[in-house]
Amino acid sequence: MSDLNTAFANLPPTPRMPALFIGHGNPMNAIEDNAYSRSWHEVGENLPVPAAILCVSAHWMTSGTTLVHVGQQPATIHDFGGFPPELFAQQYPAPGAPELAQATIDLVRSSHLEADTEWGLDHGAWSVLIRMFPKANIPVFQLSLDLRKSARAHFELAQELKVLRERGVLIIGSGNLVHNLRALRPGAAPYDWAQIFDAHVAKSLEQRDFLSVTDALSLGRVAQLANPTPEHFLPSLYSIGVADPKDDLSFFNTSFDMASLSMRSFILS
Ligand code: ZN
Repeated sequence: MSDLNTAFANLPPTPRMPALFIGHGNPMNAIEDNAYSRSWHEVGENLPVPAAILCVSAHWMTSGTTLVHVGQQPATIHDFGGFPPELFAQQYPAPGAPELAQATIDLVRSSHLEADTEWGLDHGAWSVLIRMFPKANIPVFQLSLDLRKSARAHFELAQELKVLRERGVLIIGSGNLVHNLRALRPGAAPYDWAQIFDAHVAKSLEQRDFLSVTDALSLGRVAQLANPTPEHFLPSLYSIGVADPKDDLSFFNTSFDMASLSMRSFILS
């Protein structure tokens, strides 16, 4: 407890915050009024107001290190191409959370976390937050995905972040449980492999079998098709890593976009 007390001296204990995973999908969801973006807004309105938000996004990947952004005013990063100017014009001017970010760095023991001043908010974070918390008045900081870590190591790192939930911090993993951009088919029904993988993860979550979710990328051909690369799946391990098996689970946006993106999202509270 002494580490916790040192790191969080300035943050009073709060009622336990939920943990979220958001399937973010197409960046256009940031500006389109559709079923996904409407759900995000609704979820944001019904949550207790967080003291701060920690987002682990599929779009901040590092290799051999885990970075935590400590900027005072994180920049809105438009990390995509081929979208209309209106999307590039979006800004999400939420303040950063430098002290809390530093406290998070000090808290984690299983990995060496490092402070970062270069990143900001990538679209995995802001495209969702702009709908959930449109006032942009809640401090936000991001933690990167070290792609050299195993799925199990991501889960274990996340377990060390669990205490943030007791300090008013809303932890959001932002990715997609199934994400195969090469297989996108607008308007088509979801692929069998997409449905099988998505259902496997959903069932594991319902059974609170978090280790089964953690091992899902090793499911062979189905997993390889569902996630040819791991970065959109891995943020879900942060959402479950900070959960307890006794947490209530609810799913939302349980559908597929363009046949190969699972938009399934969940809240553990
Ligand atoms: Zn993405």
